[in-house]
Amino acid sequence: MSEEHVQEQWKKQLVKCIRCGTCRSVCPVFKEENSENTTARGKVQLLEGVVEGNVKLTPILQERFNKCLLCKACVKGCPSGVRTDLLFLSARQANARKNSLPLVKRVAFKGLTFRKLFDTGLRFGSVMQNVFMKKSADGRGNQARFNIPGSGLDLRRIIPPLADKPLRDRIPEKITGENAKGKAVFFTGCMLNYIYPEAGEAVVNILRKNGWDVTVPSDQACCGTPAFTSGDQDTGRKLAADNVRVLSGDYDLVITACASCGAALKNEYGEIIQDEDTRRKWEKISAKVMDISEFVEKFGDPGLFGPLPLKITYHDACHLVRGMDVSKQPRQVFAAVPKLDFRDMKDADVCCGAGGTFSMVYYDLSRRINDHKLDNAADTGADYLVTGCSACRMHITDGLSQRGSNMKVMHTAELIDMAYKSGENQKKGGK
Ligand code: SF4
Ligand code: SF4
Repeated sequence: MSEEHVQEQWKKQLVKCIRCGTCRSVCPVFKEENSENTTARGKVQLLEGVVEGNVKLTPILQERFNKCLLCKACVKGCPSGVRTDLLFLSARQANARKNSLPLVKRVAFKGLTFRKLFDTGLRFGSVMQNVFMKKSADGRGNQARFNIPGSGLDLRRIIPPLADKPLRDRIPEKITGENAKGKAVFFTGCMLNYIYPEAGEAVVNILRKNGWDVTVPSDQACCGTPAFTSGDQDTGRKLAADNVRVLSGDYDLVITACASCGAALKNEYGEIIQDEDTRRKWEKISAKVMDISEFVEKFGDPGLFGPLPLKITYHDACHLVRGMDVSKQPRQVFAAVPKLDFRDMKDADVCCGAGGTFSMVYYDLSRRINDHKLDNAADTGADYLVTGCSACRMHITDGLSQRGSNMKVMHTAELIDMAYKSGENQKKGGK
């Protein structure tokens, strides 16, 4: 797309902005920085300047567009329907074209398109991680031993280790049974595959428990979100096309358990796919994409749940609540689990500060944003914080460690799987 064409697209959105400032009141970055530049309105004005020729696409401008969580709170709250999310992505792309992305990002994103190489790299990383990382003092994760060039890892930051064995090595590619109720294909995403395989196993258990056949394709690629949200649309487009090919089988549902992967497959691929044939195939896939909590709410048998006497609260991941419209479904599932004490927190749908690579680049700012989330979670008195996004889980766990909290974090799928297992145990005990 030419620069003129891109700017024509921008104009259609820019003209809708009435400068009301509603986006200021919902922006987690503005709340911390109190700078108009960080708001959607400020960025809209910057883009108007670019269109009018008064502002240049410089690295400083690139930085302004990068200092955004892409949390979509401004899109949701905008009374004029300005698609600020699309504007920001497009601006990042234009900036990346003009000023180029940092070398580390360019290499990393290119690496995503070589699936086997990427896989080998992460397996090697799993074996070698103790050279670079040490166990955190509280044992909740790993910390870098020293500044790892290009990693963006703050030395204070606690991250989960890479799993010894990825999810897709732990389970067969196809799991079928008699009289299946339907055929689901599970898009695992990278974080469930390489970091949180137990949550991925929980997803498979849930699908099987409800009588669905499950396929977990070994040749699925990264969903591409890190690349296209950074402005590398070519890589995002290539990965989207690979995944469309892999998911175009005879499946009734495409199950996701990662907020960003789900939002990409369901909606965001529509903004980056250009090839007509791929787009037609993607449209069919998009209609079948369902987060695992939606699946349980719609197709799960609540009679199979056993008691789960836990005090939990729930964090709505941005890309679930505003990317996939998934918010009431997990709460309905929690309500169906006997003895589960669910305590909704204040501002449950406000961003936790992770924002993909945002928390790597702006660690201190992302921690301040996260602190509000942790305060609200603590106020509920819950012992567990449940969320459907692995990136949020990672960032929230780090925050809890930093403040010495005992609150534990788990994926929604793990909680649901526990409730089913409790039901199984109850049945066995009753015999
Ligand atoms: S809420 Fe929408 S219309 Fe109002 S200033 Fe922000 S972008 Fe413009
Ligand atoms: S997407 Fe979120 S962080 Fe970015 S401008 Fe909008 S409200 Fe602020």
